[in-house]
Amino acid sequence: MTLDCDANATEPLRPEARAAILGALDLGGNASAVHGGGRAARGVIEGARRVLAGRWGGEVVFTSGGTEANALALHALGRGRRVLLGATEHAAVRAAAPGAAELPVERDGTLALAALEAALRDGPPALVCAMAANNETGVLHPLEAIAALCRAHGALLHVDAVQAARLDAPVPGDSLALSAHKLGGAAGAGALLVRGGLPVPPLLAGGGQERGARGGTEALAPIAGLGAAAAAPYAAARLAALRDAIEAGAEGAVVAGRGAPRLPNTALLVLPGLPAETQVIALDLAGVRVSAGAACSSGKVARSHVLAAMGFGEDAGCGIRVSLPWNAPEDAAERFLHAWRAMRDRLSSRRARLAM
Ligand code: PLP
Repeated sequence: MTLDCDANATEPLRPEARAAILGALDLGGNASAVHGGGRAARGVIEGARRVLAGRWGGEVVFTSGGTEANALALHALGRGRRVLLGATEHAAVRAAAPGAAELPVERDGTLALAALEAALRDGPPALVCAMAANNETGVLHPLEAIAALCRAHGALLHVDAVQAARLDAPVPGDSLALSAHKLGGAAGAGALLVRGGLPVPPLLAGGGQERGARGGTEALAPIAGLGAAAAAPYAAARLAALRDAIEAGAEGAVVAGRGAPRLPNTALLVLPGLPAETQVIALDLAGVRVSAGAACSSGKVARSHVLAAMGFGEDAGCGIRVSLPWNAPEDAAERFLHAWRAMRDRLSSRRARLAM
């Protein structure tokens, strides 16, 4: 049996989400239609909207996923502002903010607050983008402190909460991005939540759906799944115990961001000198699924910009991300460590032989 340790790429479908998705597929309908079928579909969409607004607060704009939600935030809130973003932000944010000024992170991966304050102090009004949790390391940025600095300097704050939305914790900021498939829903839906009545001019205008903020027929089934997944509980303490056991047993690995607050399910294990891709393939052959840095760039394994920003130098290409899914089995740590130790010993001795 394979062991899924790649939940930050996508969480397995939750049963609550599956039921909601199947119900919505059977229901069908276009939520913009005025007849009964349309009103039924509208009811499903509005139900999901209430769940999201109730949990995080703000006006909900449904999108196709986290990438689009981040792009919409940059488009809507970045107008007329200079954009400041952390060096470890996801590619979805970086690509949507060409020309943005990059802020350094500390060695533990958290945003360098002194650098943020200095950048906010001089220059015109800014939009700051800070991810709540990093997808590779799980490191949580000090969002309350970042939000306070933004308020003090008249800056807006957009938070990419795609990974951190699993946690039962409020997310500060003027907007936040979510993605269904990182919560145990299906890929195809996401949301941008916008607070304080800030206007959201659309990236995609189309038929004026989502109160004009996002054109296009709403993806009924994935949105229903997003609502159900967002209402499901997350067993953070159970996953943290499994993750801690993995880190404690991974002798010889450097755990990126170890000292910082992190997502409970994530460990980024760096084996200096051993390319991540080789580690991922060896573990896959042993039935354990992990990824090298960000899965979004699968196919092309490069040095992780996250590890590079944290000062890992040459070893920025030697980290594997272990991210436990919500339904990780009780023996996940044992099984992972069994495969990981065999991989480490085999690859290390091969490397030693080649160096001779
Ligand atoms: N932001 C973060 C932190 C992510 O981890 C991801 C996906 O890996 C995204 C944004 C993009 O989300 P989506 O896959 O829904 O487009």
